[in-house]
Amino acid sequence: MPKKIGIIERYAEFLPITDKTPIVSLNEGNTPLIISEALPKEFNLDFKVYYKFEGLNPTGSFKDRGMTMAVSKALEEGYKAIMCASTGNTSAAAAAYASRSGLKCFVLIPEGNIAKGKLLQAYRYGAKVIQIKGNFDDALNLVKEITDSHPVKLVNSINPYRIQGQKTAAFEIVDELGKAPDYHLIPVGNAGNITAYWMGYKEYKEHGKNKTLPKMCGFQAAGSAPIVENRIIENPETIATAIRIGNPASWDGAVNARDESGGLIEAVTDEEIKWAYRFIAERDGVFAEPASCASVAGLIKLVKRDYIKPGSTVVCTLTGSGLKDPDIALSFDDEVITVDSNKDKVLDAMNLKL
Ligand SMILES: *Cc1c(COP(=O)(O)O)cnc(C)c1O
Repeated sequence: MPKKIGIIERYAEFLPITDKTPIVSLNEGNTPLIISEALPKEFNLDFKVYYKFEGLNPTGSFKDRGMTMAVSKALEEGYKAIMCASTGNTSAAAAAYASRSGLKCFVLIPEGNIAKGKLLQAYRYGAKVIQIKGNFDDALNLVKEITDSHPVKLVNSINPYRIQGQKTAAFEIVDELGKAPDYHLIPVGNAGNITAYWMGYKEYKEHGKNKTLPKMCGFQAAGSAPIVENRIIENPETIATAIRIGNPASWDGAVNARDESGGLIEAVTDEEIKWAYRFIAERDGVFAEPASCASVAGLIKLVKRDYIKPGSTVVCTLTGSGLKDPDIALSFDDEVITVDSNKDKVLDAMNLKL
């Protein structure tokens, strides 16, 4: 039986670690690349679409890939505590890896704007959770200030080890496809992940693993699209809370990935995100959180203007699990049916036409 190992052991030669690095792992990574059956049928596509489903990581998002690296290095450097600002998934991952390593974990989150599943993870993994009356960008500024002047390690994606860990998702895709995809579509919030994938594809190419590079296509939520609008958004708004960010930390990395790869960064509306969110769950059996579905919403936008060449291979990263956000999941009023406890009423409601 091949043993399931984490990304540091699997890709050690590509990561900045030494024999002395204590590896803190929860067997993250090695997530499935699931081919879409429903999208090609619905839109009559002449190319293949895969979901890189990062919701199947140990804490339910891709953040685990970066956190195994950041926490292992913090431990190696002798830190006793870590801290992050978070729209939710970073705090869930930080809390879990801190729990495993014995480090203390402090998380700063914007009050009221965190999906419930993420908040409960931070508490249950034992982090000290502090909600602030401000947004994510305010929280990150505070974390920077505090970690600059105290012996606490910052584990947001401006910590370079996070990006190092996250680039391994690109390695996995190339290992599985035997090549790089032609297009890689990805949600963009703080822009660490698009930066990481681009780094991963380029590094793997230098090692001869892939001969080509994908066009990187990033998608922001329309009410929260600083890179698309080329300005800081003071009060970002979107139902996709994981990408509700007005001043991305890796802004330059994202622009660089877009320009070097000949790709694009565009916006998708909350309506488009919701449509994609329901479609891939109801028709392809893949349940990802709203922010994740910005990549699929983006794909549909690109399909409508024939951007993607026939015969291509497209990968959409689905960044996190749908279970993270129960409030959104149960917010579609048209779905709720309640009838009397009576066979005829139930049959009526079933509207059985098979
Ligand atoms: C963090 C996160 C994002 C955004 O990733 P960035 O690296 O900040 O661009 C998107 N979706 C989910 C589910 C996330 O947790």
